[in-house]
Amino acid sequence: MRFNKPCIKCGVLSLDAMCRNCHRAQERIRDRKRDATPERKHKKATLYNSSYKRQAKLLRDRGGICYLCGEVVAPGTGQADHLNPSDPQSPLAITHSFCNQSRGNKKLPG
Ligand SMILES: [Zn+2]
Ligand SMILES: [Zn+2]
Repeated sequence: MRFNKPCIKCGVLSLDAMCRNCHRAQERIRDRKRDATPERKHKKATLYNSSYKRQAKLLRDRGGICYLCGEVVAPGTGQADHLNPSDPQSPLAITHSFCNQSRGNKKLPG
């Protein structure tokens, strides 16, 4: 059984199809494209300000329990997001990236 595969971009052995570095680079490109829309720029200035970034980093580094699916989020892998996506003052919680993406900007039920 093999655990390591060569990264599809740079050939470095990793556990996934793409190594961590290339994966990060790809996400940065994606984020930059997304950030180019006016709606996103507005959000960045309000919801995703510097205090959000500080808190989000702390949460991500620590990991925890995903508030959307209840599974463990490994330290350094998740995303921190506002419990109420339209309220910059609402508390942050850790989620899996894929859980957060599938939620979009829907409010939590209840
Ligand atoms: Zn790579
Ligand atoms: Zn989750």
